[in-house]
Amino acid sequence: MSVYRNSRRKTRQQSRQNNKKSLVWNYFESTSMTVTCKLRKKVIKCSNGNMSNMSSHLQHDHRQQHQEMKDNEERRKAEAEQDKQVGSLVSSSLLYDH
Ligand SMILES: [Zn+2]
Repeated sequence: MSVYRNSRRKTRQQSRQNNKKSLVWNYFESTSMTVTCKLRKKVIKCSNGNMSNMSSHLQHDHRQQHQEMKDNEERRKAEAEQDKQVGSLVSSSLLYDH
């Protein structure tokens, strides 16, 4: 019984993490205790999911990748904004139909 409940909770946490998965993870690998920089195989000691430590490591040690990540984030935001606008256009045209 409790195993079933635990696995359900884990699934929900994973899907929530995937939705909010930051682009910073392109540059890191994590275990439960450490985060490793893929670019230099350097272990960064921080709790799993502490994004600001990872960002600042990129910012200090890999400026190019940090810039690249920021560019990608901007692009992703712009695309999400576009999707929202298209979505509201579609729903307003549906309203006019009725
Ligand atoms: Zn690094």
